[in-house]
Amino acid sequence: MSVGQVKPGVLTSPKPVQSVNAAQSANAMPAGFWGAVGEENVTTASFATSGEAASQTHALRGRTLNVSDASDLRLRRKEVILTFDDGPAPRATSLILAALEKFGVKATFFMVGKMANAHPKTARAVAQAGHTIASHTHGHENLTGLGTVEARRTVAIGESEIARAIAPTGKKVAPFFRFPYLAQTRALRADLKDLGLVIFDVDIDSLDFKNDTPEIVLKRTLVRLEQEGRGIILLHDIHMRTARLLPELLRELEQRGYKVVHAVANHRALFDTPLQASLR
Ligand SMILES: [Zn+2]
Repeated sequence: MSVGQVKPGVLTSPKPVQSVNAAQSANAMPAGFWGAVGEENVTTASFATSGEAASQTHALRGRTLNVSDASDLRLRRKEVILTFDDGPAPRATSLILAALEKFGVKATFFMVGKMANAHPKTARAVAQAGHTIASHTHGHENLTGLGTVEARRTVAIGESEIARAIAPTGKKVAPFFRFPYLAQTRALRADLKDLGLVIFDVDIDSLDFKNDTPEIVLKRTLVRLEQEGRGIILLHDIHMRTARLLPELLRELEQRGYKVVHAVANHRALFDTPLQASLR
């Protein structure tokens, strides 16, 4: 793939993301580990820091969906939830945040613990912008290759690493989880649900990890979307092609009358005990 082939309209100029200038507390475990109290309150409070004018109207912005169980993830026609997995990655994630802010929409970021450790400043920028922070294991392990104890362990460690990275912002990690590679078993799924996690599936897979041009990924995503008419869209904020196509994808969604729904955690997770216990 050559970046030079991208039509100008797809490219977006880099925009620095406001960094959170809070003291690093890398060693402190956040008090509210898994204890997210209604993320919606946090989200509202963060609007002021996103540089977004309160009076500005964004046609693409949809409702806020309170989610305490996977069954709450019911979308109406022409509603989508944007999800970004595997980050944070400084360059791509920053461009993605800029595009989301421009269109006034909120997404869910399924972060990898290792990545949050490596790029805490970027993780904090995502949290500070009011997006939902969710988890995706410590090191993107295929959980079907692990025993239950080890699977729980990487999920718990990943969550705690992300929580630690964003702790200076005062934001919490939502008890939302996505399986790496979408690889799962019925037993694993039931186990994580028992621990209070809401498993996010995928309705529209952009396949943006493939070595295609941004245009091809964009076209494929829109075709899939039109087939479904609604759904959870899977993207990855570690790929520059994704950062490059996102402004165009958002423009298309807006023109086609879609709304981007913001999924937020609706409950205090049952999690504190069993998941934390699995770390010991
Ligand atoms: Zn992943």
